[in-house]
Amino acid sequence: MKFQDRSQIEALAKFKSQGDLVTSFYMDTDKGRMNRKEIHLVLKNLLNEAKDRACGLSISKEKTESVLRDLDLIAEYGSQALGTSNAAGLAVFSASQRKFWQPLELPHGPRSRVIFDANFYVRPLASILDKYSHICALLIDRREAVWYDVSMGEIKFLDKLLSDVPSRVRDGGFEGTSAKRIERRIDAHLQEHYKKAAQKTFELSKKHPFDWLFIASEENHGPDFESHLHSYLCDKVKARLHSRVSDSPAKVLQEVLEVESRLKKAEEEEVVQKLITELERGGLATSGLRDTIHRLNQFEVQTLVVTHNFSRPGRICPTHKFLYLDELKCPIDDKKTDIVQDLIDEAIETVLKRGGTVRQVEPPSKLDRYGGIGAFLKYKA
Ligand SMILES: [Zn+2]
Repeated sequence: MKFQDRSQIEALAKFKSQGDLVTSFYMDTDKGRMNRKEIHLVLKNLLNEAKDRACGLSISKEKTESVLRDLDLIAEYGSQALGTSNAAGLAVFSASQRKFWQPLELPHGPRSRVIFDANFYVRPLASILDKYSHICALLIDRREAVWYDVSMGEIKFLDKLLSDVPSRVRDGGFEGTSAKRIERRIDAHLQEHYKKAAQKTFELSKKHPFDWLFIASEENHGPDFESHLHSYLCDKVKARLHSRVSDSPAKVLQEVLEVESRLKKAEEEEVVQKLITELERGGLATSGLRDTIHRLNQFEVQTLVVTHNFSRPGRICPTHKFLYLDELKCPIDDKKTDIVQDLIDEAIETVLKRGGTVRQVEPPSKLDRYGGIGAFLKYKA
């Protein structure tokens, strides 16, 4: 099944394990970055590592058997899915003891990992969802208009409109004032067509809410049409497309996705540039994993800026929940710290729990030169 919306996250979050351990599996299967052989190797290593970890957990024999069964099912499903699916990512949620099984194809590669817990681990799904906007693509020409809904890399036809607008005056037929009168009449028809299209766009925005509106209009009539748009919709116009009313949905989708990824990239670059400017002027910002974690432990982080899929193990103090790169003992109470599989993930969770924001940046970016992670800090009281 394809991962498409928040309702799937909610369903997984609601699952009750009744005290059993359940398995959440995530894997980056982006064939743009790895070939099939490499991907299969990642799957094998990931599951072997998870198996060792499962056997090392101090839990009952039945619980261990249940997660090992999860891993067997995932191994079987994974090697088959990797051969047939072209998705950039794969997730599986399994609770063999409860006979629960939910694989999801992801439109964007997550950090590869296996998590055993009392609940399914769904935050990577939420972070993928954040990467996509809900887009309405409107293609309009002198007679026709067609609306598409684009979300999570998929396109759906929404509606179309066909108006009776006469063609432009043909050469040589009319002269002088009568030609002008006919032109005016055609213009009136055209404006009526645009008005109807604008009205329909507004109605559709209520039925299928979207974040961004992309418009393709022929013959440079864009401003003419947009003057009829509701001001609420004008704020959502984020791009003009070259696609035509007659283009296939697949062709329209391709252009929409290219433009969307360009816009997202520009947004991310802006955040990173703001962070760098703040760092360079010695303002309220920090960078690098060690300093960022330290500031987080000091409750100073407002917005965490982190490279997508950046991951490394670390340690956590069980009492204070402070995070450390390599401290074996918490410097505050001298207690032994626990290993965490992914320090960055813990940091993201901490920031979100405290009501901060997290911005994920697709690599490569200028953030790489600053250790792949940084943060905007709060004003000190
Ligand atoms: Zn501590």
